[in-house]
Amino acid sequence: MTSTAHDDPGGGDPAAPRVQRLAERVYAFVQPDGGWWINNTGFVVGREAVVYIDTCATEQRTRVLVEAVEAAARPYAAPGRAPACIVVNTHHHGDHTNGNCIVPGATVVAHDGCRQAVQAFGILRPEGIWEPVAWGELEPAAPFVTFEDRLNVYVDDLRIELRHFGTAAHTTNDVVAWIPDHGIVFTGDLVFNGGTPFVLMGSVAGSLVALDCVAQLDAAVLVPGHGDVCGVEAVDVTGEYLRFLQETASDAVRLGMTPLEAARRTDLGPFAGLQHPERLVGNLHRAMAECAGARPGEPLDIVAALGDMVAFNGGRPLACSA
Ligand SMILES: [Zn+2]
Repeated sequence: MTSTAHDDPGGGDPAAPRVQRLAERVYAFVQPDGGWWINNTGFVVGREAVVYIDTCATEQRTRVLVEAVEAAARPYAAPGRAPACIVVNTHHHGDHTNGNCIVPGATVVAHDGCRQAVQAFGILRPEGIWEPVAWGELEPAAPFVTFEDRLNVYVDDLRIELRHFGTAAHTTNDVVAWIPDHGIVFTGDLVFNGGTPFVLMGSVAGSLVALDCVAQLDAAVLVPGHGDVCGVEAVDVTGEYLRFLQETASDAVRLGMTPLEAARRTDLGPFAGLQHPERLVGNLHRAMAECAGARPGEPLDIVAALGDMVAFNGGRPLACSA
């Protein structure tokens, strides 16, 4: 992993986003502390095109991202000719898509289900679930080039393979961006590094399938949706948590408990140190529904599940420093 002199736009502030050079022209934009609404993005720059992999939750965070991308792209620019600008969304969640509208002149690309979800939900500003966020001026900018399974995007001669693994996982529309020439994969929220996985809007079983597909890429470098850049070991931790979740859900269904009751009596053991343990409640809503036969990605009562997470958190809004 290479660090460069411009790696720290925050000037030493540990909470500021960090530009991390992963390979020639390939960067991760890592946002500490990786908690609720504080995602990672990435970008690839070249003479003919600039590709963003996700935007950010807020106007301000996305403006910092755009500045970083423009600075990295400048040395490659051809005189008198602007590169094409493409934004890839790894899934529809607002921390990865809200900032689409801030990127000038972007062609926004994603799984077709991502387009449908962004159109359905718009920009959510949920009250009372999370601590207040300064969202800024945002308007929905849904992907308008979509695909179902695979799409290649080229930055000059560098191929970025966008892949959906055929199942709901973190959501119904997850896509990874795989750069085989460098062994780098941007996983979106299929992987949280140091954070509790979150599958309320997708599938536990499907996540395990998708994680197997990620592992088979045999990537050298993995950029998770949240948390520090890592290797494939983060895939293993995520899988272990999800199998623990399935066992916990199966017991809870057998004992006739609600997801909140089950969460309150669960000892998280080795997973207790993962950020945002309250996600267990939302995860149990999904895992218990699957035990009862729900299809991957089948709509659930998300508002009820989020309310249970707040209840699990002692009735307080969930910690969020976005
Ligand atoms: Zn997400």
